[in-house]
Amino acid sequence: MCEITFYYHQQWPCLPYEVLDECIRHHQEHSLTSEFNEFSIDVYALGDDPESRVVAIDFDNTITADPDFYTQLINCLRKRGCKPVVCTIREGDQEDMQKICSVLKGTEIDIYTSNGQCKRDYLKQLGVKVGLWIDDFFPAIANAGDTFWIRNGINF
Ligand SMILES: [Mg+2]
Repeated sequence: MCEITFYYHQQWPCLPYEVLDECIRHHQEHSLTSEFNEFSIDVYALGDDPESRVVAIDFDNTITADPDFYTQLINCLRKRGCKPVVCTIREGDQEDMQKICSVLKGTEIDIYTSNGQCKRDYLKQLGVKVGLWIDDFFPAIANAGDTFWIRNGINF
């Protein structure tokens, strides 16, 4: 299984991130960095609403890069009172849903498909506040210039 380098830079405490951090340390192959370098980062963990325990996890090249790790993470998050969900920019047709369910096997999880829309706008419209985003492609989450990026140490 591949090694994954996670990025996290937020300055204030975030329970979902603490759980991610524990899972990464436990897993040993994966690692963490707080330095923004697109060439060495595989997955971005980005803090958002400090009150929310929803963790929005991307599917393609995030969960699919190590489904066993993310299945464990989903279980650990739930044990700690967090609510993991899948959020992908996929269209959400039957084929997409079947694919996601087959990779996550028996894990019952809410799946949000933004169909190409900015994920943060999409979930906001649905009234879902996110505490932590986990995604290999950060521009899919929020629009450039948003203060969200400054808080996460990314100049975008
Ligand atoms: Mg992706």
